[in-house]
Amino acid sequence: MRILWFCIPAYGHTNPTIEVVRELVRRGHEVRYYSFEEFRARIEDTGAAFIPCDSFLPPVDAKAERRLRKVSTTEMSIQSFKTVANLDPVISQDVASWCPNVVVSDSACFWGKLTAIKHDLPLVCSTTTFAFNERSSKYMEHSAAELADMLLGLPRMNREIRKLRPLGYHVKSALDIVRNKPDDYTIVYTSRTLQPCAETFDETYYRFVGPSVRDVAPRQKSGRPLVYVSLGTVINDRPGFYRTCMTTVQDMPIDLLISCGKAFDPAQLGELPPNVRVEPYVDQMDVLSRASLFVTHCGMNSASEGMYMGVPLLLFPLTAEQRAVARRVAEVGAGVPLDESAAHDPAQLHQAILSALQDEALQSGAARMRDDLRSCAGPSGAADLVEQVAR
Ligand code: UDP
Repeated sequence: MRILWFCIPAYGHTNPTIEVVRELVRRGHEVRYYSFEEFRARIEDTGAAFIPCDSFLPPVDAKAERRLRKVSTTEMSIQSFKTVANLDPVISQDVASWCPNVVVSDSACFWGKLTAIKHDLPLVCSTTTFAFNERSSKYMEHSAAELADMLLGLPRMNREIRKLRPLGYHVKSALDIVRNKPDDYTIVYTSRTLQPCAETFDETYYRFVGPSVRDVAPRQKSGRPLVYVSLGTVINDRPGFYRTCMTTVQDMPIDLLISCGKAFDPAQLGELPPNVRVEPYVDQMDVLSRASLFVTHCGMNSASEGMYMGVPLLLFPLTAEQRAVARRVAEVGAGVPLDESAAHDPAQLHQAILSALQDEALQSGAARMRDDLRSCAGPSGAADLVEQVAR
């Protein structure tokens, strides 16, 4: 069968899809994957056809750039609506000539979801966060700045929505696109145990397939514990936080590895203590196979990967969605929250790292979640759902 796949330009949303696409190709299906040059190699490696969307992203001026850096929901939605309009002729032509059986779209990818609606094609939603309905979205605690951004942005957003109508897209709101509906066929890359309010999601439609990760055998941990710090790939421009981490561990009998992202030059951090290494990007699964503690921003993927490897988490969320992940991970006992003030206070961070490393309840919570996530259906369960919906 022919599968049209859509994703936004983000590692966290693309990575979990890779093994699912590989499995579908292995089963003999054709996949055309609309994505971005940064992800070309890993998509083509699955055997799928890669269609670049880079040139269809709208130009971003300095003001919009600043808002995007702060992960403004309004700005991201506006850019997405513009991308829908830019991509419309290409996708419509592709749908008419290739006649796909099914569309798979990331839950935040407006142009994927709206393609399915406009062309009346079956849709499978690929959700790399938790599934969010009215109940589970209560887990997201929006900060005042995030709420103001959304409210003040409404008129701009509505203007973009109106521009889509003549192209055949009848959209109510950005929230209406993003939120999971009760009868949307949906792949969720977590377990029922971790999903908040799991009982509100019908198993006919929602498949909790667990993290879609490249497995790496955990290594024997001996000698000095390795503490791994990462704030993910989007909001990682936090040299102040990395400095606090460096100062904190310089006299501790542990090794520290920081993945600081590509937004700034690690040389800015100055001379590193001998037990600290800083890299712009690491093979995170490999690092986790050796780590004793993961200080994470609670991106869904990072948190899942940490738990999949049985590594206890020190939870340092920066956005509403990450706060939802942090809260749930703490509830299942696989992580403990790190207070925001510890980001500037080496004594407090020292204490938090030390107690996490010695916390036996935390170690067994992490082991429990490792077993839970590993018992999920994985990429082949996700591929089953795509086949079922396409039929
Ligand atoms: N990642 C990685 N190496 C790094 C930093 C991140 O491989 O040095 C991967 C990580 O394994 C995860 C993804 O990038 O799969 C980050 O996704 P997440 O949802 O955790 O956070 P985001 O980057 O979207 O905030």
